Amino acid sequence: LKEFAIRLGEAFRNKGMVARVAGDEFAVLYRYKEEEDVSEFLELLKKPFEKPFTVGNADISLSFNAGIAIYPQDGEDLDTLNERAVSALMEAKRAGEGEVRFYSSAFQEKLRDILFAKQLVSKAVEEGLFTLYLQPYFKASDLSLAGFEALVRIVDKSGKVYSPGVFIEYLENGPYLRAFEGWLLRTAVELHERIKRTISINISAKSIKDMSFLASFESYCSIYCRDYPIVLEITERIFMEDYERAVAVLKKIKEYEGVLVALDDFGTGYSSLTYLSKLPVDILKIDISFVRQLTESERVRAVVKNIINLATDLGMKTLAEGVETKEQLEMLRAMNCTYLQGFYLGKPVPVEEAIRLYT
Ligand code: C2E
Ligand code: CA
Ligand code: CA
Repeated sequence: LKEFAIRLGEAFRNKGMVARVAGDEFAVLYRYKEEEDVSEFLELLKKPFEKPFTVGNADISLSFNAGIAIYPQDGEDLDTLNERAVSALMEAKRAGEGEVRFYSSAFQEKLRDILFAKQLVSKAVEEGLFTLYLQPYFKASDLSLAGFEALVRIVDKSGKVYSPGVFIEYLENGPYLRAFEGWLLRTAVELHERIKRTISINISAKSIKDMSFLASFESYCSIYCRDYPIVLEITERIFMEDYERAVAVLKKIKEYEGVLVALDDFGTGYSSLTYLSKLPVDILKIDISFVRQLTESERVRAVVKNIINLATDLGMKTLAEGVETKEQLEMLRAMNCTYLQGFYLGKPVPVEEAIRLYT
């Protein structure tokens, strides 16, 4: 017990407070900022058990259970938190040796997702498992091909394909973003030179504000092409924190010939009309949630129609995402939307297939 107490104290030195609360029970008070910190916490928790304990001539390996309660959602005072941590500990013990449980099941699931994403992404980085799928988009006027959006996938050795839904949040907020986006730019630019079509790539909010991203972008794109530009898709999120800076970066990007900027998922977040009038954006991508409601809701129809008119008056093109039916397609054409994208016209597919099907 003494040796264990020392090890636990060392693991959490400067990071938390440890105490022995009963016979073989210890408590740790740990401050976390982001949900990702929870995985660090679990690593620290495992530290004391890495090496066996020597008692006399015997080496003894120990295992443990842990129950975790989180302030403030699980309790606002120490007693409540402790009570709930203990109840989570009971759950953990029931589940078996080495198990850890959170009091709140939502957190437990979230944690499982984060850990899964972390493992998937680090494996993808190490073994080069990232791949681009291409989804075509078309001119609404004559349904001719206007370009492709590059969408990342992780394909493991057995051929299983993982969509960004399971890993993009971790990728964008974790330590591998830069490595990934370096790969993304390189791959997209190679593809662009090879297939000679417009290619859109999704850029995280973090990178777009990072001047070194711009520098690396510049170094990859030596030949800009006016006939089939590269489109950088960004989301409104980038304007929420640091508006001035985001606008400055976009203005800089727009100085490159043959590079356009698209505002992705328009209508889901910020969407202030005042800001819209000032944004240096070429294409407005109307979010799938609007397109979905087009046929049922007259109000949504009115909103979409006016977004398209406003964007057009501001000199922007519009693209409707997630077109899944003929009705949606016809409506958007009638509203003079510039481009259409969606499963009705073409799903994201591997590069070779996209080339074969659409070019
Ligand atoms: P997004 O940029 O809004 O991409 C469109 C998503 O909608 C894609 O999902 C696409 O497969 C899906 N989609 C397209 N048409 C339809 C349709 O008709 N119906 C429905 N239900 N869905 C449709 P995907 O490929 O799973 O990508 C999800 C998100 O992950 C993307 O949303 C984007 O935000 C992010 N993402 C994808 N690739 C990258 C990347 O290389 N870098 C970054 N930072 N984010 C990426
Ligand atoms: Ca996009
Ligand atoms: Ca989108």
